[in-house]
Amino acid sequence: MTPADDITPPVAPSLSATLDPADWGPVRDLGRQMVDDMVHYLETVRERPVWQTVPADIRAGLDEPLPREGQPLEAVYDQFRAQVLPYATGNIHPRFWGWVMGTGSATAMLAEMLAAGMNSHLAGYDQSATLVEMQVLTWLKALMGFPEGASGVLVSGGTAANLDGLMAARVAKAGYDVREEGAFGGPPLTVYASTETHSWIFKACEAMGLGRRAVRSIPVDADFRIDVAACRAAIAADRAAGLRPFAIVGNAGTVNTGAVDDLVALRALADETDLWLHVDGAFGALAALSDEPELVAGQELADSLAFDLHKWGYLPYEVGVILTRSADAQTAAYKAPATAVPAYLQSSTGGISTGTTYFADRGMALSRGFKALKVWMAMKEQGVARIGKAIQANINQARYLGRQVEADPLLELIAPVSLNVVCFRYRPEGMEAEAVNQLNRQILIALQEEGVAVPSQTILGGRFAIRCCMTNHRSRAEDFDILVAAVRRIGARLTGAAEGLQ
Ligand SMILES: *Cc1c(COP(=O)(O)O)cnc(C)c1O
Repeated sequence: MTPADDITPPVAPSLSATLDPADWGPVRDLGRQMVDDMVHYLETVRERPVWQTVPADIRAGLDEPLPREGQPLEAVYDQFRAQVLPYATGNIHPRFWGWVMGTGSATAMLAEMLAAGMNSHLAGYDQSATLVEMQVLTWLKALMGFPEGASGVLVSGGTAANLDGLMAARVAKAGYDVREEGAFGGPPLTVYASTETHSWIFKACEAMGLGRRAVRSIPVDADFRIDVAACRAAIAADRAAGLRPFAIVGNAGTVNTGAVDDLVALRALADETDLWLHVDGAFGALAALSDEPELVAGQELADSLAFDLHKWGYLPYEVGVILTRSADAQTAAYKAPATAVPAYLQSSTGGISTGTTYFADRGMALSRGFKALKVWMAMKEQGVARIGKAIQANINQARYLGRQVEADPLLELIAPVSLNVVCFRYRPEGMEAEAVNQLNRQILIALQEEGVAVPSQTILGGRFAIRCCMTNHRSRAEDFDILVAAVRRIGARLTGAAEGLQ
């Protein structure tokens, strides 16, 4: 016996453990079934309630121990169909108008599968996917009236896009090397935006280390638009106090009422005060594709423009866009200084790392997915003209609903209809203010719980509003008639009026 025969041989180490299926046939068959099921799901969306709560047994079913061992894909898919698919937010339904949620589209759904199959990494690299994202950005710049030399990048959404706008603004206007010194290299930085600005601005200033107090909230006029004179005065007062203003933020569509600031006046103010003009056009910017681009006049003058395609671009989550007029300003905010590019990320003169388009230099993300594919496929298949028609229809629907409300003595508009947003309430004669607010809260809950329609809420001047924001390409005129009738029916029921006692 040799010494080697004395010891028990070790278990042979496994040198392969792929996650691919042993047999591709069933995956292909089930995949076809999934496509069939999802197309049917989209086709029949109108027949289902807009929303329903997740029942207790389903909640329990979605609380399972860690799956140490796997199970057949069919079984997992069955659970998806039974427990996941039916209890969605409902934003693909024709009567969902809450918050600012997009509808998505069948084309983009398929594109998501193709992109996931390719699983491309979009930091840059010599690959077709980079060219597709460049192509999409070129189209988006043209649609938004930005010059060819402008820069852009696709990001996760409006919050990220707006943050990127302020990051570029800060580097451009801080007056010191803010990337090296951080927030402490000079006087406190301040940014100016109306009181109606979305809460992203606080998150962004917190993330940049400026603190919430960097946000100077400027009052609005009766149409919820920024008071430009008050903005000018606030900038002057802060400068006199030794602070360092760096940007003005204009709104192309506020989340509460769809108000559009006077962006031309803000451009002039930014020039006069040597500040950066950033425009938050999260949904409103897309009005540029409608027959009435003048609704968002001036957004093309911004130094940076943020907008979402997962809202009024009708694409599935997530995809937002940040454009900067100056290409250098975007990389100035994020590209590592030449001496600080890590060896593992340096580009080369050949091979896959060749090329100058490096999206990771334009934003925070390094590993980035192929979001551009769904944008590219949807724009090509639908055509910008057809997308623009859907956007125009939403604008028309807001006006239609506004007229229905105005014509009804029991209903009241509580903000001017702007872009695609309508804020209204049910108001029986002689009811006192707090009771009206309570009543409308109850009406909104009933609308949602009955599955009739999903508007959301806001409060304007102390008045509770049922708020509809139309970013839905499936809505038709009859859907707004159903909404108005339901509000009247529920309002009457809750107040014990005759109409509800039928
Ligand atoms: C939705 C929205 C945002 C935030 O965008 P997300 O995509 O949700 O991150 C910012 N501003 C306005 C006006 C919005 O409607």
